[in-house]
Amino acid sequence: MTTTASIATHYEQFLHLLTRDTRDPVQAPVQASGTAEVHRPASARYGERVDPSGGSQPIVLTRDEWIRNQIDLTLALGRLLTVDDVVVSAVPYELSFIGAEVDRVIEMVGASVISVGTSGTICPMPRLLGLIEQYEVTALVCSPSFAAELASLAVSLGRRPADSTIRTIVCVGEACSAERLDRVATAWAARTSTLYGTPSTPTVAVACDHGALHLCDHRLRAEVRGGLRGELLLDGAPTGEVVELWPADRRCDCGSTSRVLVPLGSTASAIRGPDGLVSALDVERVVFGHRRLAPHFDCVVRDGTFHVTCAVADPRAVDVGAMRRAIRSGIGDALGVEAEVTVVGVTDWSTATP
Ligand SMILES: [Zn+2]
Repeated sequence: MTTTASIATHYEQFLHLLTRDTRDPVQAPVQASGTAEVHRPASARYGERVDPSGGSQPIVLTRDEWIRNQIDLTLALGRLLTVDDVVVSAVPYELSFIGAEVDRVIEMVGASVISVGTSGTICPMPRLLGLIEQYEVTALVCSPSFAAELASLAVSLGRRPADSTIRTIVCVGEACSAERLDRVATAWAARTSTLYGTPSTPTVAVACDHGALHLCDHRLRAEVRGGLRGELLLDGAPTGEVVELWPADRRCDCGSTSRVLVPLGSTASAIRGPDGLVSALDVERVVFGHRRLAPHFDCVVRDGTFHVTCAVADPRAVDVGAMRRAIRSGIGDALGVEAEVTVVGVTDWSTATP
């Protein structure tokens, strides 16, 4: 706890310096010509995001934004990790912000970091399993899909992920239902937490002790197109992400006054149903009503229809056809939309999904 308190103090001082720097131009250094230099926020990082048509768009974060994103994430992860943790960061590094941010945040907390990224070239999953054993890794920062695949790979190699040294999994990078998160937690016998960001803003919302994601509304202005559920706009700019934003007067049990944000997946993976927008996460919640599914899940929209892929540990032990039909009709009954459903064995997962 002492460590967390000192991190908080350190960052508060950092924040104070930044705020003074940006809000008090009178203090700006006077140039040789005698005119005061006009303060412009310094650009710190270049990244890219993929637009809806598949093209790459540049994003530049200012130094101030970059540090403020790190502060919020450090304060959140400081409640989960300690100096004794050995943390694997398996999040994207190339041309994105999240990898570098997670690295810095783990260092600020005082824990050790092993950066493996997501490209799978230098550190493919079997090698990562070796590293987890060798260095007694205690925490993973990765997508829920990555955690699920790593667990099933461990099982296929005759290991028991629940017996590993992993005790904490911080899920990032994709919307995930509480139901699927529970299955990831069970597979690893670990506690799970989440954090939410976009390619342009790596820390948008951080989890409280009750598992809710709270918007970082002290530095971000968030709105939702069309009410409380729809596309997220950050400082007026569309994000391509569907979320639900609790009304300001609805409080989380943790007592925080920051609004709760529920990520629902991308706008490209949502369709209009008879009762409004239906997101991939709505589909996921229905799918994981089926107890025997592994924590693997994929849902894309093609030609206006959801295409869902899910997995079972052993396809010979269940009636896959009946399960597929039950999931399909469950989605239709609950959400009023059509879905194509595929159920595969976990060992066939990588070839069944894009
Ligand atoms: Zn809360």
